[in-house]
Amino acid sequence: MSETLEKFKAFLEEKNQYDHVTTLLYWDMETVTPKAGQAGHVDALTYFSTKSFEMGTSKELGEMLDTLAKPEEFEALDDTMKFIVTRMKRDMDKDKRIPKERFEAFVRAQAEAGNAWRDAKNASDYSVFAPHLRNMIEMTAEMAGYTDPGKEVYDVLLDKYEESMDSATIDRLFEDLKKELIPLVKQILAAKQPDDTKFKGNFDINAQREVQQLLLDYIGFSRESGAVGETEHPFTLNFCSKDVRISNHYHETEPLSAMFSAIHEGGHAIFEQNVNPEYDNTVAGSCNYMGVHESQSRFYENILGRNKNFWLPIYDKLGELLPQFKEISLDEFYREINHVRNSLIRTEADEVTYCFHIILRYEIEKAIFRDHVAVEDLPELWNEKMKEYLGITPGNDAEGILQDMHWSDGSFGYFPSYLLGSIYDGMFLETLEKELGSVDKLLAAGKIGEITKWLNEKIHWYGSTRVPKEVIQNVCGEEVSAEPLIRYFKKKYTEIYNL
Ligand code: ZN
Repeated sequence: MSETLEKFKAFLEEKNQYDHVTTLLYWDMETVTPKAGQAGHVDALTYFSTKSFEMGTSKELGEMLDTLAKPEEFEALDDTMKFIVTRMKRDMDKDKRIPKERFEAFVRAQAEAGNAWRDAKNASDYSVFAPHLRNMIEMTAEMAGYTDPGKEVYDVLLDKYEESMDSATIDRLFEDLKKELIPLVKQILAAKQPDDTKFKGNFDINAQREVQQLLLDYIGFSRESGAVGETEHPFTLNFCSKDVRISNHYHETEPLSAMFSAIHEGGHAIFEQNVNPEYDNTVAGSCNYMGVHESQSRFYENILGRNKNFWLPIYDKLGELLPQFKEISLDEFYREINHVRNSLIRTEADEVTYCFHIILRYEIEKAIFRDHVAVEDLPELWNEKMKEYLGITPGNDAEGILQDMHWSDGSFGYFPSYLLGSIYDGMFLETLEKELGSVDKLLAAGKIGEITKWLNEKIHWYGSTRVPKEVIQNVCGEEVSAEPLIRYFKKKYTEIYNL
């Protein structure tokens, strides 16, 4: 091993200590830190992420990367190290253009905006969040200006979350979906709707926690390398493949909500737990492409979790844990988990109208960064688009523009990933069935493990080493297209609703 490579490895190990603490602080703040303790954690978080940022942009690292990128050194590296050096050099060349004090200010603003968003949502008072949102929009654009000067801000943001997918591709995919789904949803809503009265009532929270454990075990979440916490908004976070955390929120009157969140976050976690462990604690490990990540959580949540056969092997156990489900037949349950209705909250939406929730956010983000629509006009724009796509208007901002946390930490450009994930899922499903046979049959036979294994081998193992376009090309051998997802929706809902 060359001297530089040895030094570089030691350097990465040290930097990882700072990143590890940052992750831990973040988890702690989201799950258990008391309100009065938040400020102290914000200070610590700012300190440790600034240290990591300094290392990541230091002259020392720059020189090591330059040396390792020279042909004679580079050719001697193994493939993983080649990826790490190339990726880190690219990111460093971008990040080092951000002035240190501006980065520090950005991290602090993110944490403060997060707290303001929570207060604003609780009080349903947009004016509490608006100045922070304005600040996040300005600072996000400022950061994009440093990292990718001369490029259009919104395209830089999209690329940050789903490298290789640009707004022209996303426009095409989303327009295709709109064209087909608007009439499909109209047809569905005009058809006879299932009776959901049996799903109303109070469902024991402790039992819901046990149901979550049942579901996580069933889909293949490793408890040895995973932990579960409780937060306002469910999410997944990972240190490395050996420590992946998920969180959930339990609603006493809505038992399906926590079940499907558990399957969704469990899908994210299974991805991270099955990345090649050689990539742990490097830029090759974990998956940095949010669309590909969402494709996995949404594959478990929707393609598998909203399939009747998924529940066949475990439905009796569900009734044992939550006795109300003994009175609900599997058919009734299946109808309800695929009950299409126009609703206000994205995370509670069925898989079909969900598409409109994302298209709405994508269009608003374009309006923010391209048309510079003022922050005070955004709630109205939100409500107009809700009316246009879903035919309903939020009664207040908590169930409107304040419902999601994404914009509070500057994650503009993230939302399209959810729908890209579903679009990829349509393609993955068709390929998987060609290679393994019918998903219905596999699930009914209790062979969900074979599906997980296929996803592990085809997608999870590679972590970040394949960009989304390469993942699609390697798994499906085709360009990205919304057609398979449209076919899936049409087939499934024509059957369910007798269209
Ligand atoms: Zn997700």
